Amino acid sequence: FNDTSVMMQARHQFSTPSDNWCQVHFADSEIKVLRASKQYIYDDLGNEFLDCVSSSAHVGHCHPHVVAAGHAQMLKLWTTQGFLNDTYSQYMKKLMDILPESLSVVYLVNSGSEATDLALRLGRLYTKRHDVAVFESSYHGNISSLVDISSKSFKRLPQGKKDFVHVIPLPRTRNNIENDQAEFCNEAQKVIQKASQNGTPVGVFISEIVVAAAGVVIPPPNYFKTVYQMVRSQGGICIADEVQTGLGRLGGDFWAFQGYGVVPDILAFGKSQGNGFPMAAVVTTREIADSLPEYMSTYGGNPLACAIGKAVLEVIINEKLMYSAKMVGKFLLEGLRGLMSKHPTIGDVRGMGLCIGMEVVCGRPDMKPATNFANRVLYL
Ligand code: PMP
Repeated sequence: FNDTSVMMQARHQFSTPSDNWCQVHFADSEIKVLRASKQYIYDDLGNEFLDCVSSSAHVGHCHPHVVAAGHAQMLKLWTTQGFLNDTYSQYMKKLMDILPESLSVVYLVNSGSEATDLALRLGRLYTKRHDVAVFESSYHGNISSLVDISSKSFKRLPQGKKDFVHVIPLPRTRNNIENDQAEFCNEAQKVIQKASQNGTPVGVFISEIVVAAAGVVIPPPNYFKTVYQMVRSQGGICIADEVQTGLGRLGGDFWAFQGYGVVPDILAFGKSQGNGFPMAAVVTTREIADSLPEYMSTYGGNPLACAIGKAVLEVIINEKLMYSAKMVGKFLLEGLRGLMSKHPTIGDVRGMGLCIGMEVVCGRPDMKPATNFANRVLYL
């Protein structure tokens, strides 16, 4: 990285709040960002940082094509409810081109949480079941329905885990992929079967495919074929949460599920879709969509969002960014892995494309988390 500082993801509250708002707002670091361009952010002291954090700046901060499309649309039409408009139709057409044929109904919403919440509601309505299976350490959003099912948040809930949530151990591939595969599928089967035997069968299995929120866990290659089949054979449906991984972040394909040879019953995505502009989407089959005959969102699918979403897709395709994510990701992964021989505090580096996680540990092979040191890395 030469003289460019690397920012890593962190969460901490300002330690010396000077205003009331500091009490409620969280920041990733104390760097005060003034502007951004491409993959860089610039602070008030004139420093340039390579932005490894802003997961929604997918095609680069302030990409000129996206800015121009947003600006042109702002001069024409921002919002409309209940009327058709060309920008919406053109965006839908573009989205349909990159989605599997079976997923033909799109709901446009405003955030990843709204998308996963709607996906969950659709799954529950369709299966007429309330029970949900999730991965250990999962995160699906910040709305109450999702906090209840995101196992990452259970310890912060006063009542802890709810009975209708069934937690599947994370399929963390270790040494022998085939053994791992069998073991992890077996663990998932036990959880799903137990729910059925208790008379509360799983209606919805919601998961990331590459589990970014749990520290970039990459399941073995045939894992989802087996687990989706298990869930469906018991009358459940499968939701892929691609809020982090979707639209080519993993390099090569638009969707993580393509790499696993499965098609979810419902797909939720967001973040990169608007390159920072708040928008997200749920896509599902006509049959599942029919279980929710009425749906209304004031801002979901507004013309401005559609213009931006369409421009983002055009950049991904025209600039071959999925290929670029694959190549740059490979370079970054190899570079970070190369540092492991010099730094025993790097316990592991995992990732696909530009979705990369690094474990900071006290040392190998113990792999005890080095929390304080990690915080120093995180906060620069
Ligand atoms: N699902 C996953 C996997 C996420 O990582 C996030 C956001 N970090 C969400 C859902 C929620 O998205 P948002 O913050 O846009 O509501």
